Amino acid sequence: MSFDGFCVIAGSNVLLVQKFGGTSVGSIERIKGVAQRVAASVKDGNNIVVVVSAMSGETNRLLELCGHFTEDNRDREVDAIVSTGEEVSSALLALALKDIGVSAKSYRAHQVKILTDDKHGQARIKSVETQKLLDAIQNDQVAVVTGFQGVDSENNVTTLGRGGSDTTAVALAAGLSADACEIYTDVQGVFTTDPNVVPSARKIDRISYEEMLDLSSLGAKVLQLRSVEFGMKYNVPIHVRSSFESAPGTWVVKADKKMESVKVSGVTMAKNEARVTVSGLPEQNDTMSKIFGSLTDEGIVVDMILKTESSGGLIDVTFTVPRQDMERSRLRLAKEFGGTSSFKISSNDKIAKVSVVGLGMRSHYGVANTMFSILSKEGIKVDFVTTSEINISVVIDEKYGELALRSLHDGFGLHENPDFE
Ligand code: ASP
Ligand code: MG
Repeated sequence: MSFDGFCVIAGSNVLLVQKFGGTSVGSIERIKGVAQRVAASVKDGNNIVVVVSAMSGETNRLLELCGHFTEDNRDREVDAIVSTGEEVSSALLALALKDIGVSAKSYRAHQVKILTDDKHGQARIKSVETQKLLDAIQNDQVAVVTGFQGVDSENNVTTLGRGGSDTTAVALAAGLSADACEIYTDVQGVFTTDPNVVPSARKIDRISYEEMLDLSSLGAKVLQLRSVEFGMKYNVPIHVRSSFESAPGTWVVKADKKMESVKVSGVTMAKNEARVTVSGLPEQNDTMSKIFGSLTDEGIVVDMILKTESSGGLIDVTFTVPRQDMERSRLRLAKEFGGTSSFKISSNDKIAKVSVVGLGMRSHYGVANTMFSILSKEGIKVDFVTTSEINISVVIDEKYGELALRSLHDGFGLHENPDFE
């Protein structure tokens, strides 16, 4: 199947794609456990294609090795190195399966083939060929595919960005028209918020792709964002579940009417942004485009933007950027506006972005109001706010992040089971 809309390379079948994350294959014992689980699914009569991550800690170890020579993860050789983690775990799992009598074979991206663009370290899948996998199924063989890995049109090995095995799995599930993509991980599913911070966090049984996209981009780390985009585009039901328990986890699926009645489904916090304020700039037609054009030239992605007028026809513009880009943003803007005498720049990287997400916001009003009153009751000052159709995000002082998360979670009643009004 091609994801740029050209052609479908192979036919389709009914099956499950099962992805096992790093902790799930983190030791020989665990790999044996995964093999047992796959064997049980096969015995139940399912057709299974497996995708694996590298054994836990391995990708970091490989990146550290590269770090002796380069910090640039977009280097072709870095991909050649970090992609090997998945090669080991996939072949080990194939051995473990054969060891218990299940026919299995490991596959790397070029063998499948998973074609990507040539953006090393953050490649995007352009197409997947499914014929080899369908042949394996035909022969009652479990294909164990390397996650995270791709190959570009010149046959260079690429990788899909951290957490990219999720995307491999959902893309293969899409290409195979699988019944579902199961993401086996070290948590029970998707939670209403981070249970490490808020003990009353609940596991969500079903959530829409739209909400999951927002939760993933606003701080929840359970699925790589791109995998949710694939799921939504190709309508692949994604089941996020624990590899250590048999209980069902969270289904990420198409929105339905019931979901629309829940105003807030989840609360997230991200501490990876910084605020930059430029002030004393003349109110001219091209001031905004000069600011953001120069940041674009630097390849810096801007998230929230706030423009205010100060006295004397001058404006202040505040925006957020990824923390690691704060200094670079300052330097670039200082260069751009250094000639303007009233120009000033300030920044703060001790901020947190806290967001509430819910499909029901489309049809219910008052969510922002409730959010502000919960925060003000706790004495938390909101620096700025952005909203989309199904989320509201506020930027606050980093030291109140956990408090905000907790009070919003319980304030919106997320500690209780949702009542579908
Ligand atoms: N092994 C890669 C990582 O650690 C990809 C993945 O696990 O999904 O980011
Ligand atoms: Mg992951």
